[in-house]
Amino acid sequence: MTAPTSSSPSVPASERRISALVGAIAESATLAVDAKAKALKAAGRPVVGFGAGEPDFPTPDYIVDAAVAACREPGFHRYTPAGGLPELKAAIVAKTLRDSGLAVEPDRVLVTNGGKQAIHEAFAAILDPGDEVLVPAPYWTTYPESIKLAGGVPVAVVADETTGYLVSVEQLEAARTERTKVLVFVSPSNPTGAVYTRARTEAIGRWAVEHGLWVLTDEIYEHLVYDDTAFVSMPVVVPELADRCVIVNGVAKTYAMTGWRVGWVIGPRDVIKAATNLQSHATSNVCNVAQAAALAALTGDLTAVDTMKVAFDRRRRTIVRMLNEIPGVRCPEPKGAFYVYPSVKGVLGRRIRGARPSSSAELASLILDEVEVAVVPGEAFGTPGYLRLSYALGDDDLVEGIGRIARLLAEAE
Ligand code: PMP
Repeated sequence: MTAPTSSSPSVPASERRISALVGAIAESATLAVDAKAKALKAAGRPVVGFGAGEPDFPTPDYIVDAAVAACREPGFHRYTPAGGLPELKAAIVAKTLRDSGLAVEPDRVLVTNGGKQAIHEAFAAILDPGDEVLVPAPYWTTYPESIKLAGGVPVAVVADETTGYLVSVEQLEAARTERTKVLVFVSPSNPTGAVYTRARTEAIGRWAVEHGLWVLTDEIYEHLVYDDTAFVSMPVVVPELADRCVIVNGVAKTYAMTGWRVGWVIGPRDVIKAATNLQSHATSNVCNVAQAAALAALTGDLTAVDTMKVAFDRRRRTIVRMLNEIPGVRCPEPKGAFYVYPSVKGVLGRRIRGARPSSSAELASLILDEVEVAVVPGEAFGTPGYLRLSYALGDDDLVEGIGRIARLLAEAE
């Protein structure tokens, strides 16, 4: 039975329940897998979770101390301006110059409830119904939903493991139409860990400028790059893009602060003004105490992320090696973030413990049910046939979890 929606004009409004727009939103698959794994763990099951997109480290003490001090200060019990604490905006300006080499002014910054709200408000501010947004796939599961909520139409541009999950200008150009308005650019990428080179970033940025397209560039994993890989910010290598470029960032991944909910968006003044107006009615300011914590994070150094990076890099090598030892699994070595995205196409259709998983979704369920390891299927990222595993978990858990998967898949006939 299909529930009546507002797209059924014959049904009286009073009999329709959920709006067509919001009713069409899918649950966040990554949060769903994580919730299931956490529930099993709480019930005492020895679950190993590769689902979470968050560092397994605590927030550094100096940041927590700043929040505790703010809690005791009545000034921090009040609203801040909707767009954020002026000191925090100044710190974001300074940090952006320090880390990306990009000079911006405070009135081009909006402090948001995490990178997620930054993305949501940016799309809401720049999209009109029917505007198409090119989204390189595998994509982070939030982008298409956020685009659709803003009335836009997500258009996936798929890259696979043979190109290291990187899209080319030619592929983007083939997907461009008269209705294309925005390109989403994420490097390092969630879910693949792929990082665009400076040359490719520049080529894509120039292509966008040539066609008058906007770019939403998500820089939340900027500090998590490995080997000799360098992060580059697209508006730095293509300054002509400045008037049509929106940058998303936040403290979640760099400072192990996912729960604090502080992110920001940097963009042209008119976009920031419109997005700030939207936020002023939706959520007002970000939690004042959390802003104080983010201020401490951004005005401090990068020791915390450097320490996490050493652990992530070690785990990255281990997980890639162990996955590639499993017959039927193919895992390119990611250069950034804390995810691997192996292809499991070589395993699908084979018999494992009485089942014959024919999709990555079925395989992920089987892995959770049979060996209590949580992974996110590629369906969540627009590309069936793959799994996403976060390696932001303890080294021993990582080895145990991949070992269980390997033993299970070794039974495939
Ligand atoms: N962008 C990307 C690519 C992400 O992976 C995430 C978190 N999973 C975010 C943005 C949002 O982060 P937050 O809302 O926690 O700041």
